[in-house]
Amino acid sequence: MIICHSCGNPADHHVTLKSGEIAEFCWPCYSDWASERRGLDSTRYKHPEKLHVLGRTFSVHYDTYDEGVVFSAIEDSHRSFHSFSCTVPFETDGTAAAAQLRNVICHGLKHPSLNKEASMLEDEGFIDIWYDEKDDHGLLFVIDGTPYASKELLNILSCREGWRLEFRFRDTFPQPGSHWHIREEHLPEDDVK
Ligand SMILES: [Zn+2]
Repeated sequence: MIICHSCGNPADHHVTLKSGEIAEFCWPCYSDWASERRGLDSTRYKHPEKLHVLGRTFSVHYDTYDEGVVFSAIEDSHRSFHSFSCTVPFETDGTAAAAQLRNVICHGLKHPSLNKEASMLEDEGFIDIWYDEKDDHGLLFVIDGTPYASKELLNILSCREGWRLEFRFRDTFPQPGSHWHIREEHLPEDDVK
């Protein structure tokens, strides 16, 4: 097992530095390292590790992007894969961001993307696209925390025959158990001091 250089927990973020060395991080230590290398104060983004919303428990993480700081919540469950995120300005602190994220989770849980009884997508929602070696096309689609094979997604979409699907792709976080391989030169430069 590869160990985080900062804290000793298992590492899932592997950064090839400009020097050619590889820095190994767990997600929380990666987030702090990535924000500090841009001149941001990572202590500003300290947040509750867990959020409890409507009887479900979520792990919280943050990552800095060009457009701001993305706070993510991933459900602590082996059966359900609910995940939500919100983007806040660099000035927002972790406590305020977590409060906003809680609202996003609450809204998401109360307004699912799929009407399961009708097996029909609602008018608005989101779908995560994951890798799955067992699927014919190597893909898995996660809707409201439930994984669907590509064939099942086609069945779901068929209920919307005659409609137009507008889309907007967004960065998301790695699916549980996966690893992120990153090159330092692809990360933003310290442009937000
Ligand atoms: Zn760590």
